[in-house]
Amino acid sequence: MAAISLQGICKRYRDHTAVHHLDLEVQAGEFMVLVGPSGCGKSTTLRMIAGLEDITQGRLLIGGKDVTHAEPHERDIAMVFQSYALYPHMTVQMNMAFGLLRTSKLARAEIDARVHDAAERLRITELLGRRPNELSGGQRQRVAIGRALVRQPKVFLFDEPLSNLDAKLRTHMRGELEWLHAELGITIVYVTHDQVEAMTLGTRIAVMDGGRLQQVGAPMDIYREPATRFVASFIGSPEMNFLSPPVDPAAQAWLAQQYGDGASRHGVVLGLRPEEIGLVPDDGRAVVPPLHWNGTVQRIERLGADAYAQIQVGNSSVLVRTLGDTALEAGHVTRLTADAQRLRVFDAQGDSVLAVRA
Ligand code: ADP
Repeated sequence: MAAISLQGICKRYRDHTAVHHLDLEVQAGEFMVLVGPSGCGKSTTLRMIAGLEDITQGRLLIGGKDVTHAEPHERDIAMVFQSYALYPHMTVQMNMAFGLLRTSKLARAEIDARVHDAAERLRITELLGRRPNELSGGQRQRVAIGRALVRQPKVFLFDEPLSNLDAKLRTHMRGELEWLHAELGITIVYVTHDQVEAMTLGTRIAVMDGGRLQQVGAPMDIYREPATRFVASFIGSPEMNFLSPPVDPAAQAWLAQQYGDGASRHGVVLGLRPEEIGLVPDDGRAVVPPLHWNGTVQRIERLGADAYAQIQVGNSSVLVRTLGDTALEAGHVTRLTADAQRLRVFDAQGDSVLAVRA
């Protein structure tokens, strides 16, 4: 395993900059997920690490060695693609050995030893005699990884490996990948547009937008303390709610006291996750904290233990997580209260965070 250092990496196509001055340190043994919407530059970044795309500007180090202009095969990396690309007519054993037989000068005995060792570590020894069509999706992925492993790469690169699978298999494969990372202790850089995948797999995640790195951190740190409004709305499912502060003077005063003057002035937006909003009956009896809104329930979606309430507050529609057996129904008027500890205050015009107390 090896660390990867991206230093001021840029990628320019003729009239278009796909990646702007990217600085990112991937530690040895880390599972780093690059995540962002389609077109944000994550595949281009991965392909530059792999050597499949020229680096316009900046420096790339793998395991401390400058490989900015090195050929792909000089980089000690292995890329695992979405399709696995196994040879259908070959056994698992041959699929894993074939690359080395063709391109390396290793003795046959050494190659066989590596195949058996990789198979052992991946727990697919009993599958070595089978062909790909006799394997499950998870087993195929293990073989594809085994084939890469026998080359003893320092880094594994994955480009959306799960995006063609149905939801159930995807969940299963996430477990497989997690296990593999823990078992093999390899450095992984993994590209996905799916923030759930990023949250569940990454030891750290790098969120990109518009060719720029927005934030790098442990998944829950990013969830709790997003650096920009883009990150706040991109990470988390269902999405964070953005609400104007109540016009009520008591609420304004409370906000100013807790978060500074900037938080109470006009033109800020409060970011609240669905689980950070409380629902209090509007019956004149309950004690209401200073920060609250009135709203009308539009819809209750009951999922079992939890329910999501869609609530109209002024011009905004707000999603609140509540209990599955809530007595609320569409048409009810309710009061929304904010968990004061979790508030994020954003500049309504721009992207910046004015205050976070996560
Ligand atoms: P992502 O993987 O995040 O979906 P990409 O890295 O594939 O995004 O692409 C980033 C941007 O670079 C996009 O705007 C894309 O259209 C552009 N791009 C990718 N490849 C090329 C190319 N060969 N020529 C010109 N523009 C490209």
